[in-house]
Amino acid sequence: MAVDKAIYQKLREELDAKGVTLVAVSKTKSIAEILELYEMGQRDFGENYVQELVAKQSLLPTSIRWHFLGHLQRNKVKQIVPFCSLIQGVDSLSLLQEINKQAQKINRSVDCLLQVHIAQEETKFGMNEAELMEAVSVGSDGGYVRIKGLMGMASLSDDTELIRSEFHGLHMLYQKIRLLHASVQILSMGMSSDYSLALQNGSNMIRVGSLLFGARAPRR
Ligand SMILES: *Cc1c(COP(=O)(O)O)cnc(C)c1O
Repeated sequence: MAVDKAIYQKLREELDAKGVTLVAVSKTKSIAEILELYEMGQRDFGENYVQELVAKQSLLPTSIRWHFLGHLQRNKVKQIVPFCSLIQGVDSLSLLQEINKQAQKINRSVDCLLQVHIAQEETKFGMNEAELMEAVSVGSDGGYVRIKGLMGMASLSDDTELIRSEFHGLHMLYQKIRLLHASVQILSMGMSSDYSLALQNGSNMIRVGSLLFGARAPRR
């Protein structure tokens, strides 16, 4: 399976014009496929399994900015803190505290996004508004984590209005928090199936996998 270069170029032009960051989600994809996009200028890549991320990072150019996406187990934090560019998906205060602790040990500040629960499904991780407010103030206490923004995943649904309203709600929350905390600048929302709706609703970072790399084989 090869990277779809035409789609990549078109998407990059659209996003560059809007000042939106594209994170190429390369989970399950090979080193060769990642390098194909890298050679076209892509630098932000996202993974959501720690083992896979660590293995790939060790084989690929150091100029890649690695994003960790989704739920991160606390006992795996120390493996990615030394190099991860943005941890997207800090979904609890205890995880935030663990990142801070591991970052302090190696004296490296780590940028994080807080994951907000916006979908209808029970299964999606994320904080509610009260937890979020607490985490943002803890994160701005001068420790080793920097809260750079918010991340959310809409419901897996064909209901455009539902997705739109979830993205809109997250954007409102983002604007509210941004007024209080100047470090908050990133709103990461939108994936292959819903990035257009996300862009219409204020996203400035999208995470796109299957549209660029082709469908993923199911895991195990
Ligand atoms: C896999 C994944 C994506 C990309 O999904 P596609 O549908 O392949 O674009 C985006 N965000 C997160 C958190 C993911 O786990």
